[in-house]
Amino acid sequence: MGKIVAASQNKHKIKEIEEITKEFGMFIVPRDEAGVPDVEIVEDGETFETNSYKKAYEVMRLCGEITIADDSGLEVDYLDGDPGVRSARFAGEDTDDKRNNEKLLSLLEGVPMEKRSGRFVSVITIVYPDGTNVVARGEVEGHIAFEESGNNGFGYDPLFIPLGYDKTFGNFTPENKNKISHRANALVKLRKLLIDKDAEYIKTQEIK
Ligand code: IMP
Repeated sequence: MGKIVAASQNKHKIKEIEEITKEFGMFIVPRDEAGVPDVEIVEDGETFETNSYKKAYEVMRLCGEITIADDSGLEVDYLDGDPGVRSARFAGEDTDDKRNNEKLLSLLEGVPMEKRSGRFVSVITIVYPDGTNVVARGEVEGHIAFEESGNNGFGYDPLFIPLGYDKTFGNFTPENKNKISHRANALVKLRKLLIDKDAEYIKTQEIK
């Protein structure tokens, strides 16, 4: 597996995907470096799977290369799965991480720790120029902290305490987050599927 174009324009996500996949021998190229024009891909799907496929497919059509996309977000049980697929835009269209985190904290005000459960979800899709695709979902369970803590990571990381730990992802080193994160879990699954796909492909070639 060689060069793969990343459909994301989120530098934090690209960095995490790069760090994790380099262990697998993948080489990630950000979409702007692959000559993909700066068009916005509207993430209007109701599931992570739909949005992940849409991003990978549309960027693949623009560059003609194998493309990888991540659609991810935070599901909070007390909020019936919100912010979910709207995680990036939780506090409005032109929002930022700080305002999203503030909104989440205000909706959970007075809610005790045992009811603050949730998970990060990442759905990663690879689309090939022939239109075939491989998709994998990864999750990490945890709780939403009472206040922000830690300067590492991005998005909801300063609020998310993974199960079995007593600190937020904002206090994890990038290396340690990349060992247990939703994105890492999705990419490990994806790698296995790709090995099987290659094995399939090799088998087909031999039969010919
Ligand atoms: P999208 O996949 O571009 O729609 O946006 C994903 C959003 O989910 C990000 O903007 C973050 O708010 C949140 N998110 C996804 N993954 C992470 C993570 O690893 N840490 C913190 N927040 C995340």
